[in-house]
Amino acid sequence: MLLLDERESVVDYCKKLISSELTTGTGGNISIYNREERLIAISPSGIEYDEMELEDVVVVDIEGNVVEGAKKPSSELGLHLALYKSNETVNAAVHTHSKYATAISTLRISLPVVHYLACLGGREVRCAPYASFGTEELAQHTVKTIGQDRAVFMANHGLIALGENIKQAFGVAEQIEFVSEVYSIACTMGKPVELTEYEIDESLEKFKLYGQNR
Ligand SMILES: [Zn+2]
Repeated sequence: MLLLDERESVVDYCKKLISSELTTGTGGNISIYNREERLIAISPSGIEYDEMELEDVVVVDIEGNVVEGAKKPSSELGLHLALYKSNETVNAAVHTHSKYATAISTLRISLPVVHYLACLGGREVRCAPYASFGTEELAQHTVKTIGQDRAVFMANHGLIALGENIKQAFGVAEQIEFVSEVYSIACTMGKPVELTEYEIDESLEKFKLYGQNR
């Protein structure tokens, strides 16, 4: 079986999507890119995460041709491939419909930096213009908007988070959801204060150092 380790991680993290309440039902999807083998393991389309098994994970090449697997790959396959092509430091992608991040995506704004963890997503977590799910247009909008950052909202849809590995990508998805929730709660209490450019720079610098120590 190709990409056995990656398949295991896709299954584990898809189950974590549910247990961490980052998505419901079959929403969201996860992929891992093995750049040495030039193959990607991606979650299948429309399978309940609780029931997902190793053989359900689909292995594709960078052009999206199925190399191994009987199931249909996630409908956002094109989006995952476009992201891997546009940023060589990225080897994992986690797409969620987590509640608060999705709520922010309906406002079509960048994430207000009310907590330093927002900087895990980059200098600014922007919102890509709306396009129908699973389309090439959505993939293009998303790639263009994220640039070299690690997270981006997809208008009226959800979030996609990237990382050098799956643990990192999942962590970014979790923390952007956390900051989105904090922002939402704070807005019910008053007007939250955002970090200054200097404070954002400081946080970005520290996250870079963390990266080097790992
Ligand atoms: Zn989606």
